[in-house]
Amino acid sequence: MKIDTACIHEGYKPSQGEPRQLPIWQSTTFKYDTSDYMGKLFDLEASGYFYTRLQNPTNDAVAAKICAMEGGVAGMLTSSGQAANFYAIFNICETGDHFIASSAIYGGTYNLFGVTMKKMGIECTFVDQSLPEEELEKYFKPNTKAVFGETVTNPTVTVFDFEKFSRLAHKHGVPLIVDNTFATPVNCRPFEWGADIVTHSTTKYMDGQGVGVGGCIVDSGNFDWAKYPEKFPGLCTPDESYHGITYTERFGKGAYITKATAQLMRDLGSIQSPQNAFYLNLGLETLAVRMDRHCSNALAVAKFLKEQDKVAWVHYAGLEGDEYYDLAKKYMPRGTCGVLAFGIKGGREKSIKFMDSLKFCSIATHVADAKTCLLHPASHTHRQLSESQLIEAGINPDLIRLSVGIESAEDIIADLKQALELI
Ligand SMILES: *Cc1c(COP(=O)(O)O)cnc(C)c1O
Repeated sequence: MKIDTACIHEGYKPSQGEPRQLPIWQSTTFKYDTSDYMGKLFDLEASGYFYTRLQNPTNDAVAAKICAMEGGVAGMLTSSGQAANFYAIFNICETGDHFIASSAIYGGTYNLFGVTMKKMGIECTFVDQSLPEEELEKYFKPNTKAVFGETVTNPTVTVFDFEKFSRLAHKHGVPLIVDNTFATPVNCRPFEWGADIVTHSTTKYMDGQGVGVGGCIVDSGNFDWAKYPEKFPGLCTPDESYHGITYTERFGKGAYITKATAQLMRDLGSIQSPQNAFYLNLGLETLAVRMDRHCSNALAVAKFLKEQDKVAWVHYAGLEGDEYYDLAKKYMPRGTCGVLAFGIKGGREKSIKFMDSLKFCSIATHVADAKTCLLHPASHTHRQLSESQLIEAGINPDLIRLSVGIESAEDIIADLKQALELI
């Protein structure tokens, strides 16, 4: 199936007489007739549902759809993108371990890795992702367990060089984990470029209407954990908290997701509600058509902004001449995403006047849904930072993040134009 068909037909496949649309299994628990069968479920010897914190049929159908879209072997939903990225790392790292992440990743993930996971004794080194391979190599240590990046970074919209990082990760016997939120599998399939695990904040384009916070993890099944048992004891040695099961022996290519479900979800419980999974599935059905529209609108807006005297700069990887244009063409030939970044001449004051003058384009701490919205990190998400601190964090004080929606491009441009005229 082409991705356009997969996002509609994968996952839930009703049989004769069953509901055509995915049902919401709004039930915490599932009934069994014999205690013997229930025992087998707990031993992971039989398959079946018993408690929604671990698995639910609605969630599983949506996870299976995203898994098929990414071309993976197993997937799971989480309550948020934050939970997905936390589980993805914590499933293979414990106290005393280290991993490497691009410094350009989403701010929430940056804090999770640099502050919260540090308190758990897991160390993250943030690297400049544009460094050459031999420079990046120096950051690997004997206790390095993973490499992490984002396909298109939020908010600086730079493009991740998959081949460079997968070569490095695999040379050092560790998996490459990629947050594919902004590109979605419609525009980029990281497994085809050497990534081993993919995560998503489904809150963004996958949902697409801004109705539900959620996340997802998909495993390609390609990383051979059993080859490095001393590096990944959680997967390759018996789990005392689960009847001494060794995940790689029992579940093969399903080891990583089974462990994340049976152990992390059991203990930490960041499950997505079946109701939200249902909304997510509706969003996924239209994802391919929406992504095309987001991209064509964003390109039109980028071209318009580029021509304006009052605009200092525009970053959009889909725009010819952009620093990341070639990487975007290579990894995302269909398009990148609807998010772009630009700066207005005259600093914070002019930027604020511009944003306050917009009519239907709204100021929101959100990206990637149907409605055009924008955010000025220096006045909003990063307002506590001084100009020099902003620059240190890689954020231009004049950067405006614009998430181009799926309205008429003509109307979006007209709104931006009238606001520019007022400054
Ligand atoms: C929003 C976002 C997240 C966090 O997701 P939530 O669903 O808000 O928890 C992670 N990564 C990226 C790239 C994001 O844009």
